[in-house]
Amino acid sequence: MKNRSRVFCCCLLTLGMMLAVGAVRADEDIPTYKVAVTPGFQLAGQVFGRFETPAYALEPALDNLLISVDIKRAAKAVVSSYARFRDAKTGRWTRYEQFETEFHYAGVQPVSGYQLLFVILDLGKGRSVVERFTAQGRTLGEEAMEAILKQPLPFTPARAWPQPPIVSRAEWKARPPKGEYKYHTPQKIVVHHTWKPTASQYTGAATIRGIQNYHMDDPNTGWADIGYHFLIGPDGVIYAGRPEKAVGAHCPPNVNMVGVNVIGDYDPGQDQVTPAIDKSLVEVLSWLCSTYKIDPRTQIYGHRNFSSKSCPGDGVYDKLPAYREEILKNIGEKK
Ligand SMILES: [Zn+2]
Repeated sequence: MKNRSRVFCCCLLTLGMMLAVGAVRADEDIPTYKVAVTPGFQLAGQVFGRFETPAYALEPALDNLLISVDIKRAAKAVVSSYARFRDAKTGRWTRYEQFETEFHYAGVQPVSGYQLLFVILDLGKGRSVVERFTAQGRTLGEEAMEAILKQPLPFTPARAWPQPPIVSRAEWKARPPKGEYKYHTPQKIVVHHTWKPTASQYTGAATIRGIQNYHMDDPNTGWADIGYHFLIGPDGVIYAGRPEKAVGAHCPPNVNMVGVNVIGDYDPGQDQVTPAIDKSLVEVLSWLCSTYKIDPRTQIYGHRNFSSKSCPGDGVYDKLPAYREEILKNIGEKK
């Protein structure tokens, strides 16, 4: 645990110096493939433009890839983004698939390349720019990917659990997402800690805005919005991130996974999990499990179950069995 944190710590220090923005970096996976590309595509004073990137090779091949694009659209412009992938085994390319601002590739079959296409239609003949795209991926392996993508066994709660009070995006002054979300069915809940900021660095809504800015603006991420669906402060305050029905960016491959982040560092010897956190986590997870028929016994995970990281720290991770039990008690099971 310690070593992992230390390695990560060095990366963070370097990054922190590069960014000079202080402790706003939340704890996301370290991808083995990571690029931030400024393609230089722009349409100005014209009605139509079609821009294709070169084909990018993925070596080694990846079974998950998150592509995020930043596009500055002219007032009347309609911009369509497309991605296609090369099957690592057959070498064959998929068809171009349209997406809005994030493309989440996840498959048991790895892909050895990808290519992007942007089509801009602008009757107003303004100026639109494909400013940047980022891509991040880390192979999980056939067995892990198969388990993740498998449909969980059906579960029926005995009763609905009410939604706990949640600070809305408007209340914490969230920026709007860069575009339309991609939607999924919540099937798994993945619990994280931020690692940084720590509990003592938490300053309420400003901390959530800091995490969102980092996730949306930094070339290491560049996502469409804050990556998590819910964040919980050390004071137990719950904040809304992405809608839980939108695919997030917190634990590859992200699809069908709801990310709940506890702010603080719960690695050994660091922050303490407060009773307020216990209460809010159980409340929000009970509500999610009852609403989406998620079996708390088998479908609540710590980030470390899918990653080599220590997230959500032993402090939170060791409590997951107790949380699962309490949640099951709250919502019951209809046999
Ligand atoms: Zn995590």
